[in-house]
Amino acid sequence: MFNHHPPFLRTMAKTSHDMWTKGWAEANGGNLSLRLSPDELKGESGMEPKNDWQPLSAPLPNLSGAWFLVSGTGRHLRNIALFPEKNTGLIELDAAGANWRTRWGFEPTGRPTSELEAHLQTHAVIRETSQDVDHAVIHTHTPHLIALTYALANLDSAKLTKLLWQMHAECIVGFPQGIEFLPWMMAGTTAIADATAAAMRRRKLAIWQFHGVVGVGRNLDAAFGLIDMAEKAAQIWFLAMSAGGVQTRLTDAQLLAIARNFKVTPDPLILA
Ligand SMILES: [Zn+2]
Repeated sequence: MFNHHPPFLRTMAKTSHDMWTKGWAEANGGNLSLRLSPDELKGESGMEPKNDWQPLSAPLPNLSGAWFLVSGTGRHLRNIALFPEKNTGLIELDAAGANWRTRWGFEPTGRPTSELEAHLQTHAVIRETSQDVDHAVIHTHTPHLIALTYALANLDSAKLTKLLWQMHAECIVGFPQGIEFLPWMMAGTTAIADATAAAMRRRKLAIWQFHGVVGVGRNLDAAFGLIDMAEKAAQIWFLAMSAGGVQTRLTDAQLLAIARNFKVTPDPLILA
């Protein structure tokens, strides 16, 4: 099994290594998942079930029979490239989308990320909203975005989005739907999974206050790129603040001109 390192494993290894080198994945921080198409698994063998079916908190019928490559709980993302069979695993959902089991990986014994519910609920939403285009979910600890949630009081999705759009001209093109601000919740809970999945009905990025960010995309590169763009905008804000403060910024008219030029429609509740 996987003697040839299929592309989905290589892209997971590269993305997780990039997250580490960016300073986004200390210790066992961060987790990734990638929904695989049947074509990507064609020809793979030696993947007998490794555990009994495990129930999800609620069925996800549109993920019936789906397979995912997922990072492992407690595992360090920087080690995925070195030992993918230990630090990641393949799981499948049953026909009802109500239970999961491991088919490969998490050696010698292990489980998917503790944020599995947030990942799977988000996958269920983005599969529907993207008409089956979006396949990747990344959660990571981007320092500048997290620091923003400490530096600024009374943040909400509109304020956070506007700030990032104003601080980096790419952002309104990269995420015209905005970034969802989710007030602090306990990690690994159904509450944070529900809130994150609900946010992804409207957007492709969500920030967990005092904790990290979640990004989605058609593949891991796309999800990584969106997070990287938002993180850079936050970093630019801090650089400007440390240079004496933000003296000027992109105006609403300039942002709208960028949006028109790149044929994107910003969230009208944030900018119209
Ligand atoms: Zn985290």
